[in-house]
Amino acid sequence: MAIEINVIELTERYAKFIISGLTPASANALRRCMINEVPRMAIDEVNFYENTSVLFDEQLALRLGLIPLRADPGLYVLEDECTCEDGCSLCQSTASISAEGPIKIYSSDLVMGDENISVADDNILIVDLKDGQKLLLNAIIKLGTGEMHAKWQNAVVCGYKNIPHVSITDCNDCGRCVDVCPRDVFKCVDGRVMIGDDINCSCCNLCVEACELDGIVIEEDPEAFLFKLETDGGMTASALIVYAVRMLRDKAVRLKSVLERFSH
Ligand code: SF4
Ligand code: SF4
Ligand SMILES: [Zn+2]
Repeated sequence: MAIEINVIELTERYAKFIISGLTPASANALRRCMINEVPRMAIDEVNFYENTSVLFDEQLALRLGLIPLRADPGLYVLEDECTCEDGCSLCQSTASISAEGPIKIYSSDLVMGDENISVADDNILIVDLKDGQKLLLNAIIKLGTGEMHAKWQNAVVCGYKNIPHVSITDCNDCGRCVDVCPRDVFKCVDGRVMIGDDINCSCCNLCVEACELDGIVIEEDPEAFLFKLETDGGMTASALIVYAVRMLRDKAVRLKSVLERFSH
């Protein structure tokens, strides 16, 4: 069966799409890849030269690590896979802050050492420096994956469900299913009960229990999935999907070549 994708909604950071022709294992592999395996850049180490703000170094370092950075992960390599010994422009980059209060320091105040990296949102408050308080730091940015730490996770929401199908086999138009359905799947038109948009069905079975004629059937398509994906802006939703699909394809190609070598 050919794989088909039907995009329902797509914005820079959000995607809702139906993908059909997949096994449940493949759908789950795609979900896990988008969450855990597609790499991204994030602040990993912070060297503090001066910090007289109200926040401890560790608190500031944690905040800095969680600021979403926008960068093409294809331009960098994981530290463990780099051929250098002490860090190079392929496996790390820098960002710095030098400020004295009174001033509020936002994510946009990070001075990047690499023009290919920027913050996804300018207005994330890092710290409010009061009069005379100083902050001087240099941060090391590295490539990582969600498997290593949540700060390297591109997808903040990524889930799917099998596509539901609702059908009515017997009906006296009593309207109970219309009343109990929390997703407004049923509608009443001129006294007749009909099925509207059954893709919204959550398979809660409330309508099945309410129907005295046992006239409602809820089914799930085992090979079609409704995905919802949201990123934090480090990558666009469409770029994350494409990146994950390419990673899965490359893994499958590598596995195939290994298996072929063993079978000869
Ligand atoms: S509850 Fe059953 S009988 Fe009543 S309107 Fe719905 S499908 Fe028809
Ligand atoms: S299973 Fe739940 S969500 Fe689906 S149609 Fe019935 S009541 Fe609505
Ligand atoms: Zn390196």
